[in-house]
Amino acid sequence: MAELNLVLLGPPGSGKGTQGERLQQELGLPYYATGDILRAAVREGTELGRAAKGYMDSGDLVPDQLIIDMIVARLGSPEAADGFILDGFPRTTPQAEALGRAIAALGRQLSTAVLIDVSDEEVISRLSGRRTCPQGHVYHVEHNPPEREGVCDIDGETLEIRDDDRADVVRNRVQQYHEKTEPLVAYYEAEGLLGRVDGDQEPGEVFEEIRTLVASP
Ligand code: AMP
Repeated sequence: MAELNLVLLGPPGSGKGTQGERLQQELGLPYYATGDILRAAVREGTELGRAAKGYMDSGDLVPDQLIIDMIVARLGSPEAADGFILDGFPRTTPQAEALGRAIAALGRQLSTAVLIDVSDEEVISRLSGRRTCPQGHVYHVEHNPPEREGVCDIDGETLEIRDDDRADVVRNRVQQYHEKTEPLVAYYEAEGLLGRVDGDQEPGEVFEEIRTLVASP
């Protein structure tokens, strides 16, 4: 298999986590979700977690350098030699530039930046019903319920409502997306790397579109 270095772009709640997990299973590549890594660091009380928590709780972005260091170390690891799937990174132009430099230094290049396009109204409705397990598996009370209410199908852990899925924080996260992350759509378009999928569809349909894109980048 040719090396595959993928970025998943899209607003919070666009389904990056759901699609990232499916892609990971299908492609057997490591999946790096910066939000999951940060939440684990907060739970474990590491220095990174302590530095990130306040930003995350209010829906703001964590400073670039903390995130860049955290991700760049992983891209050069042996498990990522055949590629990787990035979810939630890059989220700002300096992060995208740092990613470009890091993979160029490895003698590699990005394959595709997949934009999962979803309207603000849909994002807000999805996040208000979202339930997440501590390992990052994602459900929705109506659209994607677990088999047993409140319990993860995959690892049996108790599902939670993320602190930052509260309505006031969600509004800020959506605003941060428009201000700081959406410019990356034009950035990757200019590099000829952008692929768009309609994220308002069922997860299975979104996945098929992504597969098609990835098969013919
Ligand atoms: P997510 O699970 O991707 O929605 O991320 C949850 C929170 O983690 C975000 O609201 C940010 O506070 C923080 N975060 C995750 N990824 C990044 C990133 N690439 N840059 C800055 N902050 C991030």
